[in-house]
Amino acid sequence: MTAALSPPQSLLERLPHEWEELFAGWGQPRYRARQVFAWIHQRGILEPQAMTDLPGPLRLRLAQEGLAPPLTVVADQVSSDGTRKLLVEMVDSQRVETVLIPRGSVAERDVYAPPQDDDGDSDDEPDPAATEAYSQCISSQVGCAMGCAFCASGIAGLKRQMTAGEIYAQVLLGRARLEGQRRQSGIVFMGMGEPLHNYPAVARVLELLRTAEGFGMSLRRVTVSTSGLIPELRQLAEDFGGRVRLAVSVHASDSASRSRIMPINRRYPLPDLLAALREYPVPGLGRITIEYTLLGGDNDSDGDALRLSEQLAGLPVKVNLIPVNPVPEAAFPAPSEARVASFQRILRARGLDTFVRRRKGDDIAAACGQLALHGEKRKVRVL
Ligand code: SF4
Repeated sequence: MTAALSPPQSLLERLPHEWEELFAGWGQPRYRARQVFAWIHQRGILEPQAMTDLPGPLRLRLAQEGLAPPLTVVADQVSSDGTRKLLVEMVDSQRVETVLIPRGSVAERDVYAPPQDDDGDSDDEPDPAATEAYSQCISSQVGCAMGCAFCASGIAGLKRQMTAGEIYAQVLLGRARLEGQRRQSGIVFMGMGEPLHNYPAVARVLELLRTAEGFGMSLRRVTVSTSGLIPELRQLAEDFGGRVRLAVSVHASDSASRSRIMPINRRYPLPDLLAALREYPVPGLGRITIEYTLLGGDNDSDGDALRLSEQLAGLPVKVNLIPVNPVPEAAFPAPSEARVASFQRILRARGLDTFVRRRKGDDIAAACGQLALHGEKRKVRVL
C-alpha cells in the first residue's frame, strides 16, 4: 500500500517514481534517477558535486534546482550513557533537535519505547545486531501548537512546519553520525512538534523510510507519537494499514482534567480519542503505547490511577508513566517516588502492563525542546 501523498516540496523528498518523472522531463535516462536516489538515500550525499558518476551538466542542474543539505549541525553533545543530541539549524536559521539513543542504554529503555519491546512482546521482528543499535528521536515541527502545560516544546507555540526533506534529513544525519557497526534500529517521532499536525510531510517521510531502494526500514520500527489528532490518526491508519507503531499522550484520567493539561482535548475530547484508538488497526503491532506524564500533586493520585484504568479497559495498550521532568517555564513538581509506585501498582492490579520511564540524559538537557527553546516564553495556542 502506498499513501496518497501531497506533491514533494524539494528534490530531496522525491520518491523513486517522482525522480523518474522529473528526469523524463529533463531528457535524462531512467537509470540516472536511480543513481541520484541511491546517492541521497543509501550514501547520504546531498551535494550534487559529490555525485561523481553523474555528468557535470546534470550535477549543475541539480544544484541549480536546489538539491543541497537542508540542515547544519550546530551542537553535538554526548551524554555519559552514550545518548547523543544534535541541535540542527535549517536554512532560515530555525533550530530543532534530534537524539540518538543507544539501544539497551538506560535512556533508550526508559525514555523512548524501543522498537523491540522490553516487556516480552513478540510483536516485532528480531533485531539483527542489537549490541550497536540506536533509536533516533526526530522532530517534525519548529515548536508546537498543542501547548501541553508541562512541555518545553510547546512553550513558544508553533513557529513553522518542517518540510518532509528537513524531517528526513535528520535521519540521514543520524546515520552519518553512527560509524562502523553502529546503526539505527528504530525511528521515533517524539522530538519537537506534533507529527500528526504536520501529517502530509510525516506521511512522505514514512514513505521515504520504507522505500526499499532507499532507507529500507520496516515501518514496524517507526513510532509516531501523538497528542490525539483524531482525523489524522484515522488517516494514518488508512494510509499505512496499521503498520506504524503508535504512542498516544493521555496525561489525564478524565476529559476535564485533560483539557486543562492538554488544550487539544477541547477539540478532540478523551472519550472520542479512546473510541478512535479502539478502531486503530493494531493486530500486526501488538499494542498502542499510552503515555501518561505524572505531574506532582496534579494528576498522580490513586483516584486518577483508578479512573485511568477504567478509561483504558479493553484497549490493546501498555502504559508508560513518565514522572515529569520539570522545565523552568512550567511549574509542575515531580511526583514522589511513593506516588509513582502506587500509581503503577493500581494500574497493574487492573491488568494493565505499566512501566515507569524516567527522563535521563539530563546532563545534555535531553528533555524534548530544552536546547532549541532556551530563553523562549510560554505561548499557548491550539491549532
Ligand atoms: S507534549 Fe508533544 S504535543 Fe504537547 S506541546 Fe509538547 S511536543 Fe507538543
